[in-house]
Amino acid sequence: MSVDASEATERCWRCGYEARLERCHIVPEALGGGDDSADNLVFLCKRFHIGDPNVSDPEIMWDWIRAYRTPFYDTFWAIEGFKEYELIYGKSFDEEARERNI
Ligand SMILES: [Zn+2]
Repeated sequence: MSVDASEATERCWRCGYEARLERCHIVPEALGGGDDSADNLVFLCKRFHIGDPNVSDPEIMWDWIRAYRTPFYDTFWAIEGFKEYELIYGKSFDEEARERNI
């Protein structure tokens, strides 16, 4: 995950940023979960609570959280920005910088 256990209630488990966190059911009530036990809860920022997968299989939620793990705090959006650059311009920001001798 993006977060150390000691900061699990301060930083979003997906993006790793400090934020007002929401308790989020891994398996939602509508799919037979919804209990407030520790193994059915994760802490996410509002943005990702809205976008979280509604699944009956907890593994999918964990894969979704782990897929965006970043090696350092507060780098999630920078990394996303570089991915977007490559998507838009068809080359990485590094390649572009090398070509321009920046
Ligand atoms: Zn977040």
